[in-house]
Amino acid sequence: MPRAPWRVYPAVSMPQHLVRFGRWTVRVAPEKTRAAYTGLVAASERCGCNICRNYQAARDQVFGAEPRAFLNQLGIDLMREVEVLHTHRIARGRHAYQGWFHLFGALESGKDAYVPRGPDAFAVELEPCGEALSFGFTTRLALVSNAWVNAQVIQLEFAAIVPWVLDIDEPS
Ligand SMILES: [Zn+2]
Repeated sequence: MPRAPWRVYPAVSMPQHLVRFGRWTVRVAPEKTRAAYTGLVAASERCGCNICRNYQAARDQVFGAEPRAFLNQLGIDLMREVEVLHTHRIARGRHAYQGWFHLFGALESGKDAYVPRGPDAFAVELEPCGEALSFGFTTRLALVSNAWVNAQVIQLEFAAIVPWVLDIDEPS
């Protein structure tokens, strides 16, 4: 699915809870974020294609203790991603996925995960968390649902190495 145009929200009231990860420090409102997630349906659930079904089936293996603890600190429900995409096959049985989550908060310091590379191009620069995942914060938002309006929101991008666990042919 192509990405929606970027939306950048203005600064309003600043949440007070600080979280540090990699090169970033973010101000977050984890309880408010947790409440917002209860009303969301995961992209992989809405879609239901084999790539999404594989992601759902493998998710428990991919999100180990370290990324789980990190997402929990932010108030993000890892079972309800905003978007998840298959980028490529790394090797037989190993696939690269990427996706993102939204959260209430603001980027306090650290270079945005979306680094400009020319007029319309960006490189996504993430930092590792556990064996199979990398994360990065950005103020460039895509596919923002109504759960997030009228507040300061940032986006947590992720890249994942996902085993192919479905008993059907994997994508090439
Ligand atoms: Zn799908």
